[in-house]
Amino acid sequence: MLVDVIVDGTPVKMHKNANLLSELRACGYDVPGLCYHEKLSPTGGCRLCIVAREGSSTVETACTLEVEENMNICVFSEDLESLRKEVLQLILSEHAPHCMVCEASGDCELEALAYRYQIDLSHELYPHIYDPAALQEVGRVLLFDPQKCIKCYRCIKACKEIQGDHVLDMANRGISLRVWPGATGTWDDSSCNGCGECIQFCPVGALTEKEARGRGRTWELKKTQTVCDYCGVGCQIEVFTKDNSIIKVRGFDGPSNRGRLCIKGRFGHQYISHAQRLTTPLVKKQGKFVEVSWDEALTRIADALVQIRDAYGPSAVGGLSSARCSNEENYVFQKFMRAVLQTNNVDHCARLCHASTVAGLSQAFGSGAMTNSITELLDSDCILVTGSNTTETHPVIATFIKNAVKNGASLIVADPRKIDLVHAAHLHLQHINGTDVALFNGIMHLIYKNNLTDEAFIAERTQGFENFIEVIESYTPRRVAEITGVGEDLLHRAAHLFATAPRSSIVFAMGITQHSTGTDNVLSLANLALLTGNVGAPSTGVNPLRGQGNVQGACDLGALPNVFPGYQPVTDESVLLHFAEKWNAPLSDEPGLTVVEMFRKATRGDLKALYIMGENPLISDPNSNEVRAALESLEFLVVQDLFLTETAQYADVVLPAQGSLEKEGTYTNTERRIQPTRKVLDPPSGTKPDWEILGLLGEKMGYSRLTYDSVTDIFREINEMTPIYRGITPERQHLLLQWPCPSPDHPGTPYLHKETFSRGKGLFTPVDFIPPAELPDNTYPYLLSTGRILYHYHTGTMSRKSPSLNAFVSQGYMEISAEDARSLHIVDGEPVQVSTRRGKITIAARISDRVLPGSVFIPFHFSESPANALTNDVLDPVSKIPELKVAACTIEKIGKKEEKNEKKKK
Ligand code: SF4
Repeated sequence: MLVDVIVDGTPVKMHKNANLLSELRACGYDVPGLCYHEKLSPTGGCRLCIVAREGSSTVETACTLEVEENMNICVFSEDLESLRKEVLQLILSEHAPHCMVCEASGDCELEALAYRYQIDLSHELYPHIYDPAALQEVGRVLLFDPQKCIKCYRCIKACKEIQGDHVLDMANRGISLRVWPGATGTWDDSSCNGCGECIQFCPVGALTEKEARGRGRTWELKKTQTVCDYCGVGCQIEVFTKDNSIIKVRGFDGPSNRGRLCIKGRFGHQYISHAQRLTTPLVKKQGKFVEVSWDEALTRIADALVQIRDAYGPSAVGGLSSARCSNEENYVFQKFMRAVLQTNNVDHCARLCHASTVAGLSQAFGSGAMTNSITELLDSDCILVTGSNTTETHPVIATFIKNAVKNGASLIVADPRKIDLVHAAHLHLQHINGTDVALFNGIMHLIYKNNLTDEAFIAERTQGFENFIEVIESYTPRRVAEITGVGEDLLHRAAHLFATAPRSSIVFAMGITQHSTGTDNVLSLANLALLTGNVGAPSTGVNPLRGQGNVQGACDLGALPNVFPGYQPVTDESVLLHFAEKWNAPLSDEPGLTVVEMFRKATRGDLKALYIMGENPLISDPNSNEVRAALESLEFLVVQDLFLTETAQYADVVLPAQGSLEKEGTYTNTERRIQPTRKVLDPPSGTKPDWEILGLLGEKMGYSRLTYDSVTDIFREINEMTPIYRGITPERQHLLLQWPCPSPDHPGTPYLHKETFSRGKGLFTPVDFIPPAELPDNTYPYLLSTGRILYHYHTGTMSRKSPSLNAFVSQGYMEISAEDARSLHIVDGEPVQVSTRRGKITIAARISDRVLPGSVFIPFHFSESPANALTNDVLDPVSKIPELKVAACTIEKIGKKEEKNEKKKK
């Protein structure tokens, strides 16, 4: 509510009870203040925002006052300005004079105020009182100079209130007072995860990026706004460059991240300038790569693909598109496969992460995407996070979840591992890996039995309830506790918390989807949302967190074997005709092969040629020994990438591509938001953007409709051919809208299924529990799960070329419980051999309480200890997603193994 306030004798309107300093600034009063930041709670520490309030006998800090009706305040009197100048002198006396050489120069709030108040440092009123013994600390990613610190508390509050961590505090007294990370006071010994939020909030140069040291001051750097190309959160970033090199990255206030970043977004982009970048096309001759011209490489590819297509038919050729490439490039890639090679054998890594989400949510709701928006989580009353290690895989989303909990939301974490989010949770349902359906059926059983269902929602907006409830009946708490290992009391509490909260959200990821029952798991979550009426409204919904930066866009733009762009089925005659006419090419109406199916066919000799753009299946796909065999069986393999990846080494031709920071385009993030990416750096000479490469190849193969002048032209064709993207024209891309956006006057869709589901009514599906395909036995007694960690990303092609990320974790490891380590006589850090029916690897053991006894976890990023040599490629029958999350394994102490071998030899 707006109320009347008098400021320096002038009446103004302000929001009642709002922060006075914020309101003053919003009304145009440039009130100074160093400790205040509108995203943080007020401190009232620097005392620069002092005001004189009628009725008060003393000056007060505006940042700690709330607006009251008819408040009468004085802000810019001579006395107040003089006091401010005095305070500023005092602050400067704590700020070491060597700050004259400072990365923050020109970007320093204290420096700006010193100029504004014309502080004359040659006539210092106060002696310098900084602690001369407090030396600069050089951390893994940041520099901390305590002598420049003005004790404003902004870094401490940013860590706690924005990121939801509590790494920093203040310690000591007097001139020794200083920011204190962790228990020992050093960043590298603390639990700091390198997000760099403290740097972003530091108003002076006390906290700066280590890599930026001495390389340029902010005002001399070029600044480009774009999108982080790591994960599906799609954080907006500002990249500061000089001489075609990245100096630093800051979070930009985008709708999905509100200025926040994780370590990968802030420090993980060093890969782009890595010395190992490919800069020349390579053709394998007599088993060795030889540098060739673009023309020779493209001619070789065109000849080979035409020869194989004509000799064996289009189904002998396949293509893997990429969630690391832009929407435009994915559109052009699937068009190349369909129009030029006449096959629907096109897929990409979404098959391995959320194929079951698309299948399950499409069946239940009619659309396979995240139902709601990321920041709606802030207003949820209960959040169920399951199968998502959110703090590591989608770190910025985790910060919003932790913020919601701080605001009073309940958090239920259902996860076989004790992930970090458990520490913020009210309940941890630590179920046995692979028992998800039983767990959710058990919770729904209790919701039903306790009359906590949303009867009106079920009656008006759903169908299939009766059949569904018949199955639920048998999932009694006792039975579910036996299957899942989760106590009955916890089941009761979870059911009550979720069903009684006014707005409950479900957040999930690959812990749910990567199972041979992945589609069932997703359907189960959809049932839970329908049963409690938690879908089709803000801050509710079923929210799959997509993995890679543009995995949502790659799916949307048809890099899937059964659909054209916009999820239009290839089997629909009218759709097929529409695309055939536009593309002027005959098209196949037969759905193509999925990723794993392509490799199986290749091993059998039925798939002869594969074109891989920006993927590294030898590390990312299950059962990698089989993938290797498949790659070796191919007659012809093309890989288009930034680096000579593990997969590229098997290629006949390798083409040097460009990264997202080197070209224009758009990415679609996990919440269906289309965001432009901008060229930050000039690409290395000799490289080309993926869309241009495909256009040139199309021309070589006699097809001219793949040739575009710019990504804008491609996007106009996307608008025309993709109804859900139709209204997001190049002119409207800056609005960062969310699909569906069917027309140029549509505002986009923050949450789906508002009044009606995309399929009409929401469909309940009865789902029974089916155990994982492979369970522990005497030979393979442990349950292996795999996944990602915070510091690396997918196959490590980018993240492992970033020294800042490697400074935190540079090698693979296996989490094992203390109990199992003891029984195997393994000590922490000891290398062990892990084997499954498909392969074996050697890896260091890390003793951890995150895994249950009998279970182990291995991150899959590391080619020296490739977790996917072990994983099971059995498929979910509906979505064809492999069971990457469950495999039976055995663990052997290396010493013991060597002993055995010795004995055998004797
Ligand atoms: Fe980049 Fe994802 Fe981190 Fe955001 S959360 S900075 S998009 S890796």
